[in-house]
Amino acid sequence: MPLPYPHLFIPDVTRLTPELLRRRHIQGLLLDIDGTLMPTHQDQPLPAVLAWLTQVRQAGVALCLLSNSRRGWRVEAFGKQLGLPWRNLAKKPFTGGFRWAEETLGLPCSHLAMVGDQIFTDVWGARRAGCQAVLVESTDTDLWYFSLRRLAELPFRKERP
Ligand SMILES: [Mg+2]
Repeated sequence: MPLPYPHLFIPDVTRLTPELLRRRHIQGLLLDIDGTLMPTHQDQPLPAVLAWLTQVRQAGVALCLLSNSRRGWRVEAFGKQLGLPWRNLAKKPFTGGFRWAEETLGLPCSHLAMVGDQIFTDVWGARRAGCQAVLVESTDTDLWYFSLRRLAELPFRKERP
């Protein structure tokens, strides 16, 4: 069983420039929503994140939304707004959602990266599925259980090849 270390650990999604993705042979991104593209209790990403989404799409990077959220309406609304394939209740770190993404984007996991804010769902799932795992600093610092989760994640918050 692979350990849940990220391949890449960045402050936020906007650091993933098309140039960086090209260098790492990443042709598609599986995007977590809550805590990654926007805080769980907000409805819209920051303008900088929307601008980044446009930039990577124009560079030809394939995108989809892969969320564990039970609030399907939220994932669906966001997917429709952006015109991206979406899946909620993805059950990360199980790999079913990753297989769905491979099929949907027409790319193998070896050319995909999961971008998320949680070690034990996004990063671990990506490692298990054979995707690159990109960890971002969570935007969910206001959640009551945030510091507990951070504590559990602490040993794995470093990049490993
Ligand atoms: Mg998240």
